[in-house]
Amino acid sequence: MTVSVVLYTSDLRVHDHPPLRAALEGAQEVVPVFVRDPAVDRAGFAAPNRLAFLADCLADLDRGLEDRGGRLVVREGDTVSEVQGLVRQTEADEVHMAAGVTAFARAREKRLRRVLEDDGCRLYVHDGVVTVVPPGDVLPHGSDHYAVFTPYYRRWTAEPLRTPLPAPRALRVPSGVRSERVPRRSTVTDVSPALAVGGEREGRQRLGRWLAEHIDTYEERHDDLAGDVTSRLSPYLHFGAVSATEAVYRAGRRGGAGADAFVRQVCWRDFHHQVLAARPEAAVADYRPRQDFWRRGADAEADLAAWREGRTGYPVVDAAMRQLAHEGWMHNRGRLITASFLTKTLCIDWREGARHFLDLLVDGDVANNQLNWQWVAGTGTDTRPYRVLNPVVQGKRYDPDGSYIRRWVPELAGLDGPAVHEPWRLTGLDRASFDYPDPLVGLSDALARFRQASRTA
Ligand code: FAD
Repeated sequence: MTVSVVLYTSDLRVHDHPPLRAALEGAQEVVPVFVRDPAVDRAGFAAPNRLAFLADCLADLDRGLEDRGGRLVVREGDTVSEVQGLVRQTEADEVHMAAGVTAFARAREKRLRRVLEDDGCRLYVHDGVVTVVPPGDVLPHGSDHYAVFTPYYRRWTAEPLRTPLPAPRALRVPSGVRSERVPRRSTVTDVSPALAVGGEREGRQRLGRWLAEHIDTYEERHDDLAGDVTSRLSPYLHFGAVSATEAVYRAGRRGGAGADAFVRQVCWRDFHHQVLAARPEAAVADYRPRQDFWRRGADAEADLAAWREGRTGYPVVDAAMRQLAHEGWMHNRGRLITASFLTKTLCIDWREGARHFLDLLVDGDVANNQLNWQWVAGTGTDTRPYRVLNPVVQGKRYDPDGSYIRRWVPELAGLDGPAVHEPWRLTGLDRASFDYPDPLVGLSDALARFRQASRTA
């Protein structure tokens, strides 16, 4: 019997899975394995919301493989040693896995390749599993990555799109392969109360429903905070429960302005992945280095705590921060507003905000989180680094009747019209009727502080 191992990482699905397909073509039996590696936790990638969602994804992947006659093997320990042990036990000739973009993932691939080669086993690292276009496949003249989105997008859309692969009909796992129990969501504590359910089935249903019901209005409505009509596919894409290639392919077949706008957003995901692949240090260091002008000390700490807890006194900022705590997810417009508020209105280091987002976001990933934070903070690839989003103007524009604010800030549920966006303007009895903090800082003072600080930087 020939055997291949499929090492699952950020690609927890059976549909459109090139490594699984290649393994089945080359061997009679396959060992699909996921390794819970403590090094991943130590590197800061684990957080309760993501662990809970991951548990759902693994349970569902196990079911998906069982439906086809197989099962998922779960191991705990160092990924390289666990895979090596499996290869030796099953006498596998090949290991297949998806290419990663983080420094951590690449170091793991390198180590795995070395160890397996010594054992006479070949490692196949498949591109185009996590992203649609592999990092490095489209490049500008004279550079190892695109630093500006629009020219990248033009090249990206011109690339041929792979036709998504169907799930395999059947697979066989060799007998006698030990597995830990597939982790269960119920064993994870400190999970956000309204965290989405993970898994390939759930993700595929969501994709199908969203394509049928909302994609046509996506272009006009994607910034509507209360309408909440974006796809919410980000956690499924992050864990690979839904293939980004398949999402783009199916959106493209539907066609229209909404589909084009959606595909463009998915391209942002690839864009950040190719930046991170070329500049792994951008996960922690400024992509465009400049003089550090962030506020530090007790006052800044107190402001940071108020931002985290959603009590800055700016309703749309607080609404978004509370949505994050409750759902482990935040609307993109909310992410832009809260990140701009932290870095430009409060002048606090983007790394503080990115860390808090990574602690809570179910879709939190190094490429999209760190590079979006840098984009907003003005240290990243944004071509207008001094743009500041005014939270009152943003609130009025993207939540005109205040429904989003009232949903997440119950103290303000009794206010409507303009008052809900600027409650500090109310006086006397009106002001006494709700218990909500005054703004941490006036917007014109904050703007002057930011301009002064960034001029000297
Ligand atoms: P949709 O609007 O339906 O978009 C479809 C898909 O396109 C998303 O699922 C996502 O995979 C991708 N996408 C959309 N916008 C972006 C973007 N700006 N950058 C990269 N990919 C995008 N996204 C993450 O997946 N993980 C993160 O950790 C993350 N952190 C962010 C931090 C900040 C400060 C900001 C401003 C944005 C961040 N984003 C992150 C991007 C974006 O906010 C989310 O992808 C989006 O809100 C997810 O909702 P959705 O699936 O409904 O998106």
